[in-house]
Amino acid sequence: MSKKQIWFLTGSQHLYGPEVLEQVAANSKSLVNTLSSVGLVADVVWKPVLTNKEDIRARVLQANADDCCIGVIMWMHTFSPAKMWIAGLEALQKPLLHLHTQANDALPWASIDMDFMNLNQAAHGDREFAHIQTRLGVARKTVSGSVNNPNVQARVGNWARAALGWYESQHARLVRFGDNMRDVAVTEGDKVEAERVFGVSVNTYGVNDLAAAIAQVSPADVDALVAEYEELYDVVPPLRKGGARHESLRYGARQELGLRSFLEAHGATAFTTSFEDLGELKQLPGLAVQRLTAQGYGFGAEGDWKTAILVRLAKVMGTGLSGGASLMEDYTYNLVPGAEKILGAHMLEVCPSLTSGKPALEIHPLGIGGKEDPVRLVFTADPGPAVVVGLADMRDRFRLTLNVVNVVEPDELLPNLPVARAVWEPEPDFYTSTESWLTSGAPHHSCMSTAVGAEIWADFAQIAGVELAVIDADTTAAGFEQQLRFNQAYYRLAQGL
Ligand code: MN
Repeated sequence: MSKKQIWFLTGSQHLYGPEVLEQVAANSKSLVNTLSSVGLVADVVWKPVLTNKEDIRARVLQANADDCCIGVIMWMHTFSPAKMWIAGLEALQKPLLHLHTQANDALPWASIDMDFMNLNQAAHGDREFAHIQTRLGVARKTVSGSVNNPNVQARVGNWARAALGWYESQHARLVRFGDNMRDVAVTEGDKVEAERVFGVSVNTYGVNDLAAAIAQVSPADVDALVAEYEELYDVVPPLRKGGARHESLRYGARQELGLRSFLEAHGATAFTTSFEDLGELKQLPGLAVQRLTAQGYGFGAEGDWKTAILVRLAKVMGTGLSGGASLMEDYTYNLVPGAEKILGAHMLEVCPSLTSGKPALEIHPLGIGGKEDPVRLVFTADPGPAVVVGLADMRDRFRLTLNVVNVVEPDELLPNLPVARAVWEPEPDFYTSTESWLTSGAPHHSCMSTAVGAEIWADFAQIAGVELAVIDADTTAAGFEQQLRFNQAYYRLAQGL
């Protein structure tokens, strides 16, 4: 993805005369330079100061139409009568951040006069602007403080990541190989509504179309990829060249290359598989999925396209950050009092971006799916802060549920577990977390992200207009249930009558 832009729009009015407006322009350019210097995921682009209704609306329409522009920041350096902003704000279709800031950090106590006061009156200019945003019901993130403040920079940076995720969401294509696992409820959902709400296009392809792409992979490409595996991973001896199971590894490499070429040919950045629908595939793709998700693709298992979207969004929103994102499944628990933990894993497909270690490349039988033994990477996720996010179709809307968690080392080694895994302790505690997650009706599949934190997901949910139920250190089970009741009413009313 080429580098996108965030437009910086500064509000003022003609009343002040050209000299003041020149100073306003210079000051807002300086703010843009400061924001640019902190390294956001998009370039911050200064636009001329806006002083009337027509120019404001024209600029907004330009932002809407420009595919490079993923969002706009607005700031009222002086007073800017907000009726001028109504037409523009009503037309705005891009994510909005209202930056409530000021050109100067320190008040010049000794020299301050009315000229200074008139130039630096965001304190009430932004209140006028916020009033009209709230009156119009404009969704936005409001960030208050100096652009020199690291917390302000971080919050603007998080919003920029969410805006980039929104851009991806608007353009993403998701390929499903086969349908959902039969009889499963939570992986189902309204794909038309998904395209309306998130923009993402979700379509199904016959798995044998993938098998055909895999068959076309050249042996030389397989040779090269297998050599790469031997460098990157601890490949178990039977899978190595000359080993008894080497052909299985070659088939895994063939799957990776075939999958990748299929996705590229369809312009897709996310995909799903289904162990109930493997057609002519010889193995359930494990290694291939792990490799592709490590390269940035989104993935959900058992036809779970909603989780595949989340994993892809986490990859995009986490651009350049350390850590990773993966399909995760709450698998089993340690319920020993005082040592409660969740062990998450999947049949095969957890993404190695969750580890900084060297995964083992292994082969083991898989009872489910009725195919040959699949190759897979085996590792334990790095300890550290993370979130798990699940997306459920609640019939009249989508609900995101997010739990802040801490990935920890397993209490003991797991020598007999033949899959990649993560062990975590959820906030605020095991009991409140699991009870709240269940009350929320959130899925057993989720996206675990160790790079994209709760604020970025919250910003994304606000941009998308999607419900987000957060379980974190401040959550109580009763308060969470009450929040869901309020949300239930709000999100139904917000859809209109
Ligand atoms: Mn599953």
